[in-house]
Amino acid sequence: MSFFPHGSTAIVTGAARGIGAAVARRLAKDGLPVAVVDLDEADCATTVEAIRRDGGEALAVAADVSDERQVEEAVARVVSTLGPPSVLVNNAGIGPRAELVEMTTEQWDTVLGVNLRGPFLVTRAAVPHMIEAGWGRVITMSSISAAGDAARVDYGSAKAGLIGFTKSLALQLGRHGITANAIAPGFVVSDMTRASARRLGLTFEEFQRRAAESVPVGRVGVPEDIAHTASYLASPAAGFVSGQVVYVAGGPVD
Ligand code: NAP
Repeated sequence: MSFFPHGSTAIVTGAARGIGAAVARRLAKDGLPVAVVDLDEADCATTVEAIRRDGGEALAVAADVSDERQVEEAVARVVSTLGPPSVLVNNAGIGPRAELVEMTTEQWDTVLGVNLRGPFLVTRAAVPHMIEAGWGRVITMSSISAAGDAARVDYGSAKAGLIGFTKSLALQLGRHGITANAIAPGFVVSDMTRASARRLGLTFEEFQRRAAESVPVGRVGVPEDIAHTASYLASPAAGFVSGQVVYVAGGPVD
């Protein structure tokens, strides 16, 4: 039984693995048909099968979120197959490391392209359907790196940009019954943090142990921590919460 308005459908980007996969599974359990969007359609199979095993409805859709044409085609396919999107989770992101003085312009453009231009393109394609329905939820994955990231000025800049994006959306779209909120995760176990451990020459267990030492609740996050928050922000119950940044980081962030 879904508690969403009749005909609601969700899009989750970067949902083949990690946080996006957990969010997609959770929204499907909440009763939404979910479009599982990622770079490669075959990579979406694990998430789609997990949703179907749980009794939900899912569709694998390939798209690079930084590519305008691919995004337009992907959203059109979601509309014709699952129905118009009313919940969008902008989750796809990349976070390679490079010192500022060694960072190529190409890396800067790629990181900003996926992490900031991507949410703009997908949101622009999805929001007209929400406006038509008079109801919608845009949830965007920022990061505690928005407050500064010593290892990734490109990533920190994009994640801070997403907070301005979210607040601006909230101001512009509220009158259409659409809320916009950002989630700012702290350290979450995923392939992204696994890759960071490799780059630092640490085992993933050691990397997690060290990260947990600076987290007030004494542990690192798991994708389901983020999925619970996304589930709440997507729900009709969160209709009076908009333009917020919800830190899911095991403690406060300055
Ligand atoms: P992840 O494990 O690396 O998963 C990200 C997913 O996004 C992958 O499936 C990836 O596909 C996909 N993706 C990458 N570029 C894409 C593009 N251009 N178009 C469509 N899909 C694309 O990352 P995660 O840790 O789950 O992170 C999810 C989000 O949370 C990101 O926005 C990240 O910045 C944010 N976040 C994560 C953490 C953390 O500690 N993990 C903390 C704060 C914020 P491929 O694998 O094929 O590249």
